[in-house]
Amino acid sequence: MSHAIVKDLRAEIGGENILSAPSELAVYDCDAYTLKRNPPEVVVFPQSTKQVASVVKICNRHGMAIVPRGAGTGLAGGCLSIGPSILVLLTRMNRVLEVNLRDRLAVVEAGVSNLQLTKALSGTGCFFAPDPTGQGASTIGGNVATNAGGPHSLKYGVTVNNVLGLETVLGDGSILQLGPLDDPAAFDLIGVLTGSEGTLGIVTKIWLRLTLNPQARRTTQATFDSVDDAVNTATQIIQSGIIPSAMEVLDQSLLDAIDQGFASDISSDSKTALAIEIDGLAATLERQQEQILSLCQNNNAKEIEQNSLDHQPRSSRKFGKSALGATGHLSPGYLIEDGIVPRTKLPPILGKIAEIGRKHQVRIITVAHAGDGSLDPIILFDHRDRATVARALAAGHELLDECIALGGSVTAAHGIGVEKLDFMSKQFQPADLQAFEHVRYSFDPFGLFNPGKLLPPNESFNADIDAGKT
Ligand SMILES: Cc1cc2nc3c(=O)[nH]c(=O)nc-3n(C[C@H](O)[C@H](O)[C@H](O)COP(=O)(O)OP(=O)(O)OC[C@H]3O[C@@H](n4cnc5c(N)ncnc54)[C@H](O)[C@@H]3O)c2cc1C
Repeated sequence: MSHAIVKDLRAEIGGENILSAPSELAVYDCDAYTLKRNPPEVVVFPQSTKQVASVVKICNRHGMAIVPRGAGTGLAGGCLSIGPSILVLLTRMNRVLEVNLRDRLAVVEAGVSNLQLTKALSGTGCFFAPDPTGQGASTIGGNVATNAGGPHSLKYGVTVNNVLGLETVLGDGSILQLGPLDDPAAFDLIGVLTGSEGTLGIVTKIWLRLTLNPQARRTTQATFDSVDDAVNTATQIIQSGIIPSAMEVLDQSLLDAIDQGFASDISSDSKTALAIEIDGLAATLERQQEQILSLCQNNNAKEIEQNSLDHQPRSSRKFGKSALGATGHLSPGYLIEDGIVPRTKLPPILGKIAEIGRKHQVRIITVAHAGDGSLDPIILFDHRDRATVARALAAGHELLDECIALGGSVTAAHGIGVEKLDFMSKQFQPADLQAFEHVRYSFDPFGLFNPGKLLPPNESFNADIDAGKT
């Protein structure tokens, strides 16, 4: 890293907002995808959009790549530094700027954590709906960049459905503001930027949709002898017109993990459980609980338990969220994959995942969202045993191939990062990838933002750019 660029950065944002000592940089050598590591050369902590714009202009002038980073909880290596680059951390831009209950929106800086916003909204009667499992640390900027989802996305949508406006610094240091009012006459650039994994610009400020707290919440937990019965119940619940706020299938792998990790209240001899949460008006929920009960019974449920969650905080859900805690008891390391299949394909994919685990001799614990067919297979391994790491990676790749084969996708919410680059050309046609590249190029013609992420390298496209043909 040239001294000139560090000097320029220091002059612009102050030495106290820059890290460059190897011992400090080591902390930033990976995100939550820990299998690839490389420390950045410099880390900067801008404190305002103006400072972000200045940093981008300096990088632009020196032809230096930029890797944006929130809390670093990403599971696909999106924050990995590849080659010389500046890591731009947004965590010192952490102010909730406005909570506007009349218009039901909140305005936050990108480094505000999802949980910080939830706490700021406590007692207002409103909440911000996307609740990724990593919400305790992950930032709203990171949630936007990965289009994060959570257990409640089935009813309330993923991040993009809850973003009203974005302020973003582009590659030339200019500041783009989209929204917060919908403009149906324009391109949906909020949709383009959301989920772009830091490849199009740095998101600095976000206008978010707030949702009214539901009046009441109810849960049903039912056990079954087969995954098919559980998934059929889930499908029939949705066909009946009920949209649960969350619905998860807990297969044998997850039940065993929860049982080993914690004292579970789910019968340990059950092969599968279905956990359903509904929310809304109390009077409506009573009728829906009866419908759910009879659908569970019609599909051979063994034990059924129904409860009220009215007096518990929204974050008190257990089920799939327990899985990550349980894995901490079971293994020193784990790889959290994500994929999605059509809901009706959950039984074959869960069977296939169990088969893949046996084949590669790795334990896989799968959290399956029965509403939308998204999956989080957690593959356990020990970093100290290189052979297990290789087997875990091979198992992960095979199960993602199966998601594609079943008509699904290699990511439901975690993004592509560096981890899933090879799958992009399996999932998309060359023309699709070319279109994505044109979008990237039009936002970031200098290739400054997060190079080597999201889109696989395309030599012919790059040659066309060099030749001025695109
Ligand atoms: C235990 C655990 C559970 C998880 N559960 C879920 C889950 O349920 N659902 C889910 O969707 N994800 C989940 N994740 C993944 C992760 O929490 C999300 O992807 C989250 O949105 C990342 O936020 P972050 O602030 O940590 O972003 P980072 O990890 O810091 O960054 C992620 C990506 O976004 C880019 N980026 C970050 N901030 C900005 C910005 N301001 N502007 C432009 N680009 C930016 C980065 O370059 C990178 O490509 C989980 C992770 C862990 C560790």
